[in-house]
Amino acid sequence: MGIGGATIIAPRVPRVTPRIGAVTGVVTTTLEETERHHRACVLCVEAGLLERAHPVFGPVPGARVMLVGQAPGVVEDDVSRPFAGRAGRQLMRWLARAGIPSEAEVRRRVFMTSMTTCFPGRRPGDRGDRRPSGREVRLCGDWLDAYLRLLRPELIICVGTLSQARFLPGRRLDELVGEAWTASGEVVGGTPAGRPVLVPLPHPSGQSRWLNDPARMDRLDDWAERPRG
Ligand code: SF4
Repeated sequence: MGIGGATIIAPRVPRVTPRIGAVTGVVTTTLEETERHHRACVLCVEAGLLERAHPVFGPVPGARVMLVGQAPGVVEDDVSRPFAGRAGRQLMRWLARAGIPSEAEVRRRVFMTSMTTCFPGRRPGDRGDRRPSGREVRLCGDWLDAYLRLLRPELIICVGTLSQARFLPGRRLDELVGEAWTASGEVVGGTPAGRPVLVPLPHPSGQSRWLNDPARMDRLDDWAERPRG
């Protein structure tokens, strides 16, 4: 697979220096340890930000590709699987056109997580899912940082504006979608320099007004169908 110019080769286990999570205070050196602590996390409950914690993410040992969304929705919370609902089906269609042929293959190869990993609840008036607060994002950030440090992915697919603000701050979705980016915010040319390569996508939920514009959808289609080495 070669989304965004990144060639994905055999998994490897990187050497990692133990580091204490700034918020969690947890020291982890392996994916398994991090996952175990993460699944038991109740930081947002203790901080009074959530009524219950149920971290939903899809760890893949040795993954070279990470996908970072906003937060799980109610379907994901129900089935304990990231991107399992309607938005996930749209995302899988985009990824299929970009070179990962099936959902099973995506889940086997891509570590799927999000900026906050517990369902944040609905917005008042049943107007879609609540966008996680900055405090929740900061609390959950230790887990994301730990996975990034452990896996050192070649490719990070940033889904939605919250994820893009983390990896490519200060840029509009219109500017980002359709290109691959370096971690320092430059468009990747023919030869990717260093890793990770960042590929921003709009949030695939029906709530994203960005997707209502046919011209933008055409741009996304062009990107998905662009030949890759
Ligand atoms: S959203 Fe993240 S930090 Fe908050 S309780 Fe869930 S796992 Fe912990």
